[in-house]
Amino acid sequence: MLQTLKTYFGYDSFRPLQEEIIRHILDGNDALVLMPTGGGKSICYQLPALLREGTAVVVSPLISLMKDQVEALCANGISAGALNSSNDETENAALRRACMEGRLKLLYISPEKLLAEANYLLRDMHISLFAIDEAHCISQWGHDFRPEYAQMGILHQQFPHVPIIALTATADKITREDIIRQLHLNHPRTFISSFDRPNLSLTVKRGYQQKEKSKTILDFIARHPGESGIIYCMSRSKTESVAQMLQKQGIRTAVYHAGLSPSLRDEAQDDFINDRVQVVCATIAFGMGIDKSNVRWVIHYNLPKSIESFYQEIGRAGRDGLPSDTLLFYSLADLILLTKFATESGQQNINLEKLQRMQQYAESDICRRRILLSYFGEIADHDCGNCDVCKNPPERFDGTVIVQKALSAIVRTDQQIGTGVLVDILRGNMSPEVVGKGYQQLKTFAAGRDVPARDWHDYLSSNPQLSSSASFLRLN
Ligand code: ADP
Ligand code: ZN
Repeated sequence: MLQTLKTYFGYDSFRPLQEEIIRHILDGNDALVLMPTGGGKSICYQLPALLREGTAVVVSPLISLMKDQVEALCANGISAGALNSSNDETENAALRRACMEGRLKLLYISPEKLLAEANYLLRDMHISLFAIDEAHCISQWGHDFRPEYAQMGILHQQFPHVPIIALTATADKITREDIIRQLHLNHPRTFISSFDRPNLSLTVKRGYQQKEKSKTILDFIARHPGESGIIYCMSRSKTESVAQMLQKQGIRTAVYHAGLSPSLRDEAQDDFINDRVQVVCATIAFGMGIDKSNVRWVIHYNLPKSIESFYQEIGRAGRDGLPSDTLLFYSLADLILLTKFATESGQQNINLEKLQRMQQYAESDICRRRILLSYFGEIADHDCGNCDVCKNPPERFDGTVIVQKALSAIVRTDQQIGTGVLVDILRGNMSPEVVGKGYQQLKTFAAGRDVPARDWHDYLSSNPQLSSSASFLRLN
């Protein structure tokens, strides 16, 4: 195994778990592999593909990803091909022949093609193993469900003796169980490598309004001159407006979201990978399969809907192992919107719970990495020293007067106002909403002008348990 690793891939040693996984597959067993992005999942099926007789069939949802992998393999002298809708007929015919004649070690295939060929091409091949990449797509509990993945269960029924290795960088416990069930994995072993990415710093900014976010982002980028980064936004329009804001400051920025044409998206991605732009403002559509090792930072303009999405997205930074920074903006408005989405989604309970865990991370007063790792089932035995809570522990203070002021304003407006107006009243802002309702006459008007607006937002969005005990955390 080591010899093959060295010969074909040029590495001297295995990373943690790789060797065990490879042995397990070589023995003809099924496996579910969880490894963070950049952890080295590919070797786990590519090496068995080389060492087992026949052709390994690799299911991958992204054509661009397949192309990269096939090119890299061919460059290493390994015969590999990709069967997908972007091929022309001649290419496909040649590839099919190569498969049937057993001349390929690895065949990458899209899930649609796989299902279409299950009774045809696949029957005429000698298959060494099935590798299901991005296996979380199979589960509707996962964060990127793809219907065509859901039928992959037929593989084990039709090819009961071919081992299956399912791989993903993101799957919580119930998603893992779902993957195993749906693929009908046979006494599978689940391999989970550490999700800890100690080189990523973790920071959360709470209750910032748009202006403060812009300023914070500009300061942040100024501290990362020329360094590549991604800004994830909840909406397409937000990606556009943030990009404009940056472009105005002379920062080379691209936009990426599903509303753009494929050619524009490819161009944005290409510009980013080749450092022609420094920043990409993107929706969650961006990033899967992007192999750029020197992304130095990731900012979340909005709260993600789950820790899985969040972790996946920040995981695109620092794949070369060098220090990289992540920053999350957390606001009550986002939380309310996401709660609405989750409530209206088909899976209310589960999505609300995922959101709550994300909220827990954002509001944490203990080491944030502990929260992340515990989400993935790992227990950290020490504080990380590389998150904002570790570096700058919040202090508690008595919030009785603050709560009294807020409650007083809420009562005097008959509980008819949202947080924005509440803060306006407390701060004494003559905003149109305030003046329109005559709230400037209230006794509480301007009663809280000594507290900055951002802090008000922060206190009001605090964990309800903290609020009811009238004890707050002062963020330093
Ligand atoms: P993943 O699919 O888990 O995101 P990859 O399989 O693309 O990760 O591997 C990430 C990087 O790590 C690649 O550049 C790969 O060549 C490298 N890599 C994988 N295994 C090893 C190893 N045993 N030794 C050194 N580098 C490795
Ligand atoms: Zn920490």
